[in-house]
Amino acid sequence: MNYQLNSEEVTAATFRMLEKRGVKLEGIAELVYFLQKDYVEGLTMEICLDNVQRVLTKREVQNAVLTGIQLDMLAEEGQLFNPLQDMVRHDEGLYGVDEVLALSIVNVYGSIGFTNFGYIDKLKPGILEQLNDKHDGPIHTFLDDIVGAIAAAASSRIAHANAGTS
Ligand code: MG
Repeated sequence: MNYQLNSEEVTAATFRMLEKRGVKLEGIAELVYFLQKDYVEGLTMEICLDNVQRVLTKREVQNAVLTGIQLDMLAEEGQLFNPLQDMVRHDEGLYGVDEVLALSIVNVYGSIGFTNFGYIDKLKPGILEQLNDKHDGPIHTFLDDIVGAIAAAASSRIAHANAGTS
């Protein structure tokens, strides 16, 4: 009965599924740059990308990414039961579980991430605008919050490193 999870498999699936759903790590890095450029001297896209990759090696983050993407895909195929199917498909205003799941990512690097998460969720720059496009096609009810949360967590990681605390 000993169940041994292969961590490398989870990591690989995380990167693979993000790519499959049209999310480039560079797109997330651009959000990080957008969030931190005014606060971190000498910030480069390379530093942002490196921090996005580090965030994505955390199991809590990987679990949220895989769960959210799976729910989006099931909703796309009409496989959820109603009324959940309709709520996820239409990203219904009072649903909110997509944001709650994303908070488990934001949480990884402490409370500074919450502000960043709320900020880009409101502005929806870059890749977030594309993911949030509600026209017919792929459903990204969970993925838009997940991508924003990864960017917020990577921003917090940079901010902590810059303050000499990690
Ligand atoms: Mg959402």
